[in-house]
Amino acid sequence: MEYIDVRQFKDKVKPDAKGVTFKDSHGLQRTVSFLYQKTGYGKKRFFCCPFCLKRVQKLYFVGNEYMCSECGKVNPYEGIKNNTKGGYDDIAYRMKKYAARYNIQFDFPFDYLNFIFDSRIGKQSFRKHLTVLQGLENMRFQSIMSKTTYSTKVLSAVLRGKHPLLQTQTLWELKNWFYDWNSGERIIIEHPRQIIKM
Ligand SMILES: [Zn+2]
Repeated sequence: MEYIDVRQFKDKVKPDAKGVTFKDSHGLQRTVSFLYQKTGYGKKRFFCCPFCLKRVQKLYFVGNEYMCSECGKVNPYEGIKNNTKGGYDDIAYRMKKYAARYNIQFDFPFDYLNFIFDSRIGKQSFRKHLTVLQGLENMRFQSIMSKTTYSTKVLSAVLRGKHPLLQTQTLWELKNWFYDWNSGERIIIEHPRQIIKM
């Protein structure tokens, strides 16, 4: 995983430099900006991620740009994953992030039945989070089986709980049926290799 560390520029730029232009390993000129945080003995330098403007110590080379681990969907401990947008790794990553935000722990494949004894099950918001995750699991599975990818628009509708299928289908259905998330249609599998739309 290719990245640059802000400490690489120590002693190479002025202590208060706003940024630096350097040649990357592909021989291209790159400019990155710095941000500073005051500390007890001076100030600490960070990169400013050009995508989310957060202070970070490392910028990763993803696609053709430098960005922070979050924007590049990089797990700093595992290196980069398959970063096909809207593919199964992308969905899995979004599921983990979504679940972490609501303090929901799970292993793949996600199954809402593991949460029926959760103390939060009586809350409508918690059931909504389970519905979102079960919907994403449905998409993830199809992405693995048939390399389906989803647009950002469809994914974000699901993540916000606004996708029409999440409004009309039960958790049981989301677990047991397949759907075309782009059109909102239920899919009937007649033969293991043949998918027929209703
Ligand atoms: Zn970022």
